[in-house]
Amino acid sequence: MIPVTKPYLPNREKLNRYIDGIYERAWLTNNGELVQELTKRLEAYLGVENLLLVANGTLALQIAYRALGISGRDEATEAITTPFTFVATASSLKWEGVTPVFADIDPNTWCLNPANIEPAITPNTRAIVPVHVFGNACDVEAMGAIAQKHRLKVIYDASHAFGVNYKGESLLKHGDAATLSFHATKLFHTGEGGAVVFKRKEDLERAKKMINFGITGPETIEALGINAKMNELQAAMGLCVLDEMEENLKARAAVWHRYEQALNQTLQLQAKPKGLEYNYAYFPIVLESEEQAVRAAATLKENGVLARRYFYPSLESVACLGAEAGQPVSKEIASRILCLPIYSELITDSIDKTVGIVKEVTNG
Ligand SMILES: *Cc1c(COP(=O)(O)O)cnc(C)c1O
Repeated sequence: MIPVTKPYLPNREKLNRYIDGIYERAWLTNNGELVQELTKRLEAYLGVENLLLVANGTLALQIAYRALGISGRDEATEAITTPFTFVATASSLKWEGVTPVFADIDPNTWCLNPANIEPAITPNTRAIVPVHVFGNACDVEAMGAIAQKHRLKVIYDASHAFGVNYKGESLLKHGDAATLSFHATKLFHTGEGGAVVFKRKEDLERAKKMINFGITGPETIEALGINAKMNELQAAMGLCVLDEMEENLKARAAVWHRYEQALNQTLQLQAKPKGLEYNYAYFPIVLESEEQAVRAAATLKENGVLARRYFYPSLESVACLGAEAGQPVSKEIASRILCLPIYSELITDSIDKTVGIVKEVTNG
């Protein structure tokens, strides 16, 4: 079976050497040497400041909401977000006691449509939580302007946007915070892991205390906190994966371009803004109808290829999130989308086989 994605496994000997070091120091967590090293190297690689490593991408969102004062308040609080995303974007808000309010996406970029944000603002709105979905850039200029006008915080869920540049600089520089997921299936990973990139140093400092129970000294607990720390084994994996990022990206780009050349005439692909330097994290296609998408996924599976209906369902249909429905574009795209297999070791034969089946289904 060809999976939709495959975790990137870096050089084993190098990982062993890092683990030897962990054994020698007998230091497994609590801001160890490797976590510090990975923090510095990621800031340099991504071209950002104020990066905080955490245990996973969902906690990255939760810590960002807390550090920016969105969650942990007594009064009713709302955040405007997109229903076209992984469940964690909205469920982390709900978990933090913030009501997710969905606004519909743009039919071409599939990111939150800025035109739908203002109508969703109420006196309880404190934040906008857009998603750079599949690594595409949201309309950051428009969102920044709306946020400034209404004094809202912007937290980008940038889980898919590792290494993406927009207009010559990191996409992660936009918003009061941008969060990353380093889950095993993501482009860059630490097994489980994540990070928050804060705009302001003072927010980073507040968040640093929050991820370690609010403890600031041997006998001081300064504020309410939680345990969201990354450990040394996660950081060791990250350092190894980061070393091989160039090869990984090159291989994925080749896969991505082969799909694109074969399919861009006949299928709807994600529209990207000018000035975007993409990371080749995903290859989503939109079929003509839900029936065709379901049939394509089934035919691919019969032939040993696992494409995924991703993101499906659109989150307004998920009852436990408690948000109101009424986002027809998201519902429509979610019903017709498929993500095709993409990972660095995917061979040309497998790409061509997948393309052949997709073409057969869409022409027939
Ligand atoms: C993966 C992902 C998350 C959650 O990250 P974890 O590291 O798995 O907790 C959140 N949002 C989006 C859009 C994701 O794809």
